[in-house]
Amino acid sequence: MKENPAEQIIRDRLEPGQLSVEGFLGNDKRPIADIIAADTGVVEAAELTVKQLGEFLEKLHVTADGGWEGRVPMYDGKISVRSDETLGQIPCPFACGTSCHKAVITVKNADGENLLIFTPLAAHLISTHGFFEGKGSPCRIEPKELIKLFHHCTGE
Ligand SMILES: [Zn+2]
Repeated sequence: MKENPAEQIIRDRLEPGQLSVEGFLGNDKRPIADIIAADTGVVEAAELTVKQLGEFLEKLHVTADGGWEGRVPMYDGKISVRSDETLGQIPCPFACGTSCHKAVITVKNADGENLLIFTPLAAHLISTHGFFEGKGSPCRIEPKELIKLFHHCTGE
């Protein structure tokens, strides 16, 4: 499928070196719309919505921010979250007007094992654009992993 000019602009912004050193696409050559559709399909097959999962990540992010770089337990101690901030903001590659602060949020289980690492921008990209990033992107979140974490935490 050939991408229209608007999609090409977004694709350019997702490439390495534009907004982030590593970019958002990894080695994924599919059109952006196809990447989003495939991941949305996985989420819907689990009877969830990308908005639910994105808002879940936003909640982890906001809670982690409140910890001032300390670890904060959530969901009765099933997980803990911590945000480590770096200076600066990154604009949304979809040019929706949102900018996110740069931070890395780590989610651990009760045994202290890492369950997920994500950025505030990744939470925004999922909740607002349904974009989990391309295959091979270092910040890609596998929908299946996120669904598993969502069930683990919420019990839903
Ligand atoms: Zn956006």
